Amino acid sequence: MKLTWTRKRLTLRHPWTLARGTSVSKEYWFVELEHDGITGLGEAAHNPRYGESLDSVEAFFSEAAPFLSTCSPGSFSQVSEQLDPMAGGQFAAKAAIDMALHDWAGKSIGVPLHRMLGIDPVGIPATAYSIGIGTGEEIRNKVRDAEEFSVLKIKLGGENDREIINAVRSVTDKPIRVDANEGWTDRELALKNIDWLSENQVEFVEQPLPAGRLDDMAWLKERSPLRLFADEDVRRPEHLLDLHGVYDGINIKLMKAGGIQPALRLIHGCRCLGMEIMLGCMIESSLGITAAAQLAPLVDYVDLDGNLLIAHDPFEGVSCSRGLLTLPNGSGLGVRPAGGGDMQ
Ligand code: MG
Repeated sequence: MKLTWTRKRLTLRHPWTLARGTSVSKEYWFVELEHDGITGLGEAAHNPRYGESLDSVEAFFSEAAPFLSTCSPGSFSQVSEQLDPMAGGQFAAKAAIDMALHDWAGKSIGVPLHRMLGIDPVGIPATAYSIGIGTGEEIRNKVRDAEEFSVLKIKLGGENDREIINAVRSVTDKPIRVDANEGWTDRELALKNIDWLSENQVEFVEQPLPAGRLDDMAWLKERSPLRLFADEDVRRPEHLLDLHGVYDGINIKLMKAGGIQPALRLIHGCRCLGMEIMLGCMIESSLGITAAAQLAPLVDYVDLDGNLLIAHDPFEGVSCSRGLLTLPNGSGLGVRPAGGGDMQ
């Protein structure tokens, strides 16, 4: 297999603010994996939060390319596993290759990936739409703009959490989920915030405390009136046992897990442990989002809106109407360049 990689800049529709900072665009590496005239596509939406950068992703591709040139893409799950120990971390880069392997495999037999995995593409929960941190007026405008979505995910963990929730509740009574992105540094403060959120029709809270504070999370879970989901605290299947009893559910992302294979292992692990599953994303093009969406019928909550936050999506794949995702019928991931152009 021949691996090549190309860099693309994704411009965001609006500045995007989380507890850890603001961005106006994202620049990622995209891969092509070619063998026997068939090309699989992948995206590496790297995240500095996990020690990833454009340079580290490119370094991983340079290291993986000679190995991949000796592999057959037909054994895609073994190839994906063999890449795993190749570098510490770098899961976004591994996810890009893993999704390209799956895309290639589906295309080679002319079957959509979800069919190849035995997944019925119906019954996908409606995706939440994410609202970044902002002033009360900005929040009210964003909530009005998101009218078509039945569920909102509200980012908190900044300086004005209550102003944000009051602004949301001044314009809508639809269900909301809260993501603090590790922004509440103290467990008493987190409990106070969660108690208050429980009076404002919030479904659950994601990553209230900084990752790694599992003793504090166990304390919080015992007292929390709302269910608690791990995001930054969970990346890989091997993290799952530590989180059982500490969180009610986890947020699985292909870019954190290293692709479709480890994400499937996380899904099966959660089911064994009786934990709930959210399928989430980074800010990604429709390539990465469509790869994740192939697994969406297997989960309880969907948060796959990263492609909706960018202005000029270079790809087309999964479609979203009123928050309901429809998987493409094309073979493999079913993704193609926007406007029918070439990958370049
Ligand atoms: Mg999150």
